[in-house]
Amino acid sequence: MSDLRERTVAMDKARVWHPYTEMSRYQRETEPLVVVRGRGSKLEDADGREILDGNASWWTATLGHNHPRLTKALETQMQKICHTALAGIAHPGASELAEEICAVAPPGLEHVFYSDNGSTSVEVAMKLVLQYWAQNGRPRRVAFVALEEAFHGETLGVTALGGVDVFRDPFSKVLLECQHIPSPASEGGHEAALARLAEIFEADSDRIAALVVEPMVQGAAGMRMYSADFLRGARRLCDQFDIFLVCDEVFTGYGRTGRMWASQHAGISPDILCTAKGFSGGMFPMAATLATPRIFEGFLGEASRAFYYGHTFCGNPLGAAVAREVLRVFRDEDIIASAQAKAQRIERAFAEMSGWSGVTATRSLGMIGACDLEGDSGYLSEVGWRVYAEALASGAYLRPLGNVVYVTPSINIPDEDLDRLLDILQTSVAKVLGDR
Ligand SMILES: *Cc1c(COP(=O)(O)O)cnc(C)c1O
Repeated sequence: MSDLRERTVAMDKARVWHPYTEMSRYQRETEPLVVVRGRGSKLEDADGREILDGNASWWTATLGHNHPRLTKALETQMQKICHTALAGIAHPGASELAEEICAVAPPGLEHVFYSDNGSTSVEVAMKLVLQYWAQNGRPRRVAFVALEEAFHGETLGVTALGGVDVFRDPFSKVLLECQHIPSPASEGGHEAALARLAEIFEADSDRIAALVVEPMVQGAAGMRMYSADFLRGARRLCDQFDIFLVCDEVFTGYGRTGRMWASQHAGISPDILCTAKGFSGGMFPMAATLATPRIFEGFLGEASRAFYYGHTFCGNPLGAAVAREVLRVFRDEDIIASAQAKAQRIERAFAEMSGWSGVTATRSLGMIGACDLEGDSGYLSEVGWRVYAEALASGAYLRPLGNVVYVTPSINIPDEDLDRLLDILQTSVAKVLGDR
């Protein structure tokens, strides 16, 4: 074991409080992966071992780690200016990026509010719709509707929208009002979800500010996928009751589901679209909330009507420079079209596992493949972690979501890396199921 590894882990266990981690068990039992470098779809650990990054570092590194064009864009921008406030100041990076992101966004989204992570991009959306209705004649509209098992991030506002119990329960007494409808990914499908949505809108539309959804795939809930019919139906109902539809594309955007935006599978435009993970290229914290002219115009006039909100680093020039280069690489290398054949490899690998004893379900969409393993379900299930340990020993990082084992590699992962990743996944699942 290298000195670097030993030293890092010793200090880490003494001081670092890890996300989503019960720390006493971590300190006692966990041998963390110590990452020192990343290149393309691979990480390098402190012992010089290469590890395939099965989830593109929390779904962000859509173009792989340290893409040379992105690091170059960062370096070039660094020579000019690293940070400037965006209040009363414009800079070319933020301006050009706003123009470029609107050009590729679903039609109708024409204004860009910057922030610096996925949670804040949804927090912005919530505050926008609340303030919009407060000052545009519907002050009673203070409640939200979201999907069961939704995940929209970690700030206290968005926690209200969330439906993953372990993330939500500690705060349940202090959250904003939100009604949860059945997930269209669960048994009743989009029909049950839409029926419930219609009931809620009919009973309560004068109190509901917005419906917020992760389009097509509920990521953190365990890569739960649903029909585009739900989005079409939800768009219709939102139009009928004049309620805003917010699509949280933090995870699903940037080709993750096979299209630039997951909303495009349904051919719909939301009133607000949130983007962060792919938008940032996995390099620099960066997020945006896109809105329609109607919403933008609802904040014009008296000074008191303005949106008094902003983060220190919103629209940061380094992040903007990277985000612009991400869009150029997507265009120049035709990233989404080139991923189609890769998506088929993922689809095939998971379909193969559907007959395995101990695998209760498999699914795929674009550059996402997932399987459910028999055992405790829910975020705290252990079976996924056994697969994680097997895979890590074989050279792949496959952090599970409870009993759900999945891949969300970089969209441009080389075919040979993808095949190896899928092979390690299959072998590790087979081993863990065989050992039961
Ligand atoms: C990851 C995620 C978020 C939160 O993004 P952070 O950058 O972690 O704050 C919000 N919504 C969805 C759908 C996500 O997957």
